[in-house]
Amino acid sequence: MEKNLIARKKSELALGGPVKLPEGYVLPWRLSRSTAGPGAGSAGAVFSFEGVRVKKAVSYDSGDFELRDDGNILSLTRGGRPFLERIKLEPVVYHCPEQAFFNLDQRCMYHCAFCASPRLGNDVTKNLTDDKIVSMVRKALDDGMTVDAISLTSGVVGSPEETVERFVSCVKSLRKEFPDIPIGVEPYVSSREDVLKLKQAGATEIKLNIESPSRNIFEKVCPELGFDEILTHLSESVKIFGKGNVQSNMIYGMGDTDEEVLSMVETLCSMGVIPVLRALRIGDLSRDSLESAIGKTVPVTADRSIHLVSEQKKIMEKYELSSARCLTMCNRCGCCDLVPFKDL
Ligand code: SF4
Ligand code: SF4
Repeated sequence: MEKNLIARKKSELALGGPVKLPEGYVLPWRLSRSTAGPGAGSAGAVFSFEGVRVKKAVSYDSGDFELRDDGNILSLTRGGRPFLERIKLEPVVYHCPEQAFFNLDQRCMYHCAFCASPRLGNDVTKNLTDDKIVSMVRKALDDGMTVDAISLTSGVVGSPEETVERFVSCVKSLRKEFPDIPIGVEPYVSSREDVLKLKQAGATEIKLNIESPSRNIFEKVCPELGFDEILTHLSESVKIFGKGNVQSNMIYGMGDTDEEVLSMVETLCSMGVIPVLRALRIGDLSRDSLESAIGKTVPVTADRSIHLVSEQKKIMEKYELSSARCLTMCNRCGCCDLVPFKDL
């Protein structure tokens, strides 16, 4: 399949609804229950084709796509029509393929309108101690799984400083046990010292999310967070972690324009930060809060995603940055959005 068509198919699959499984179909791998990211709150499986992969919610009841199994070949249809002639199911280590990605705590003292993690209800990340995380990674390796990266995210519990301490302690334990595996961290930091502590603990890459390309939208959807503070901490992080080792998520589709998205891409790249463009996907857990904050949104299309990520790639080239060089977190995984330099 030609590269642009692969990117289009990936984007359509990632932006679409769940995959319906045939009645009684038993997946070869256990389902992955996400507590963060676009799939938070749902059980998903990873489908791969033509060198790309997409994590999808699956259901036996209904879906935008249907899995077909003719005994030897798996394929996907959409509305009964052929969509992908040949797909595979990929094993997930923890949360994503070839990577152990943990959410240290899905609770959060903040209330970002798009974020499902704090609304997951029961404490799904309870008992995830440092020792438990180390032993889970060890077990995956002992079971013969590929674990090329370890990543940690978390809601903010108690205070940003306390949460950073939780990251620091976990990174130290992991670094001691797995000296050669890159570790990515996605905290909310409140000072340069927080960033320094994470680097000194042994983190390889850091992701501080700017969340929206638009200050106006940011203030509506993340009313308790500071837009300028995040930009300042991103700049400090580049000095500590190095150019290209700092990433930042930007959700588009919350009423932003293409110009706003690409302007923020340029701002981040000029600082040495790798932008991670995330198409907005609204789950049941975040629909009400998002609509109260910004009203109804227009769903992101594959055309818009392809346009933005193609332009993002050009800007990144100008600043000699590449998402393909990221060792951890979403750019390494690539399951939820188009990744420039990999998919386009
Ligand atoms: S800071 Fe916002 S985006 Fe991050 S976990 Fe908390 S509510 Fe979610
Ligand atoms: S792309 Fe990111 S959010 Fe999606 S499955 Fe991979 S690590 Fe999780």
